[in-house]
Amino acid sequence: AAGRTPLMAGNWKMNLNHQEAVVLVQKLAWVLKDKKHDHAKAEVVVVPPFTDLRSVQTLVDGDRLPVRYGAQDVSVHESGAYTGEISAGMLAKLGCSYVVVGHSERREHHGESDELVSAKAHRALEAGMTPIVCVGEGLETRRAGEHVAYCLAQVQGSLAGFSAEQVAGLVVAYEPVWAIGTGEVATPEDAQEVCAAIREHVRSTLGDEAADGVRVLYGGSVKAANIAGIMAKDDVDGALVGGASLQAEEFGGICRFY
Ligand code: PEP
Repeated sequence: AAGRTPLMAGNWKMNLNHQEAVVLVQKLAWVLKDKKHDHAKAEVVVVPPFTDLRSVQTLVDGDRLPVRYGAQDVSVHESGAYTGEISAGMLAKLGCSYVVVGHSERREHHGESDELVSAKAHRALEAGMTPIVCVGEGLETRRAGEHVAYCLAQVQGSLAGFSAEQVAGLVVAYEPVWAIGTGEVATPEDAQEVCAAIREHVRSTLGDEAADGVRVLYGGSVKAANIAGIMAKDDVDGALVGGASLQAEEFGGICRFY
């Protein structure tokens, strides 16, 4: 929509080892070429597990593939005694363009708060990467009709401390938890309602530049068969795709939504 390049990001979650990762990225590149995908019409990003990133980097650089990649999480710390953590500097050095922060699975299973998500997003941006900041309500909140207010509070907390200029370059992903991995896709109208509310919230707090620049994605059971209707909505600038991003043909079809 309106001057913003659509973004299709495939979140592989904890799937595929580094050898399988190379096979999938190669296949995806073939599929995109075969479908005559125009990368100006949708930026294509894969988000593999940390252990796959070095192999993906070697492949993408070596074959000059028009695919970007990112990480599923990042440490809030810069370096030091944080066993098991991965820093933003390490990810930037591997050529990551994006970092997903605040995915609902991390909010749920690792108790990540908006405050932590915001701090992680800051680390990513400082290292030169673009955070993909995830928000989204659970089923009870949706049933209570409180989904818009809930998501806006998450946006407010998760984007704390960013300037208008910074937010203009960020990505926010609206992922209703009840639609993730359930096959239950939100209607295009559901997606538009919350994506538009997020943009208007950014407009009222940070102004037009931030609101018109920030890319707002929808995520939740996106497939090649349902992406066109979702992308037809003015305030949806792309998709964060889980399950369907593990199949080259399917994810390629999502990227080729236009
Ligand atoms: C996700 O995990 O970001 C996601 C949207 O998953 P799925 O597409 O499988 O619902």
